[in-house]
Amino acid sequence: MRGDDLKQIVSILSDEKTKLLMKAQEFRTHNLKTHETGADEVERNVFDQSMSLAIELQERDRLALIRIEKALEKIDTGTYGHCECCQCEIDFRRLMIQPFTRMCIDCMMDQESFNDKGPLL
Ligand SMILES: [Zn+2]
Repeated sequence: MRGDDLKQIVSILSDEKTKLLMKAQEFRTHNLKTHETGADEVERNVFDQSMSLAIELQERDRLALIRIEKALEKIDTGTYGHCECCQCEIDFRRLMIQPFTRMCIDCMMDQESFNDKGPLL
């Protein structure tokens, strides 16, 4: 992979990481505020619903953050952009769309026909 291409990927990953960290921060602040006001029963129900939604989001964000860290680590060690399955170089256009991907399209397809869990990023 060319240095310029790699730089582009790094900036995508860093942007995404910043966004996720800001979101986590916002979530925390919002949470603290809601607790302070002491909502009544109706509000509490709404709060519960949005909480479970937020936790779900958090879980996804947490995973995304781990993937970003892994990708950045790989960039550091020079192994980024190689398929973890067949070691081939992953198509750059694919990396631009899914910068955390660990497999080439062929291996991904193989995996998908293997299990129904959906695409593994
Ligand atoms: Zn592969």
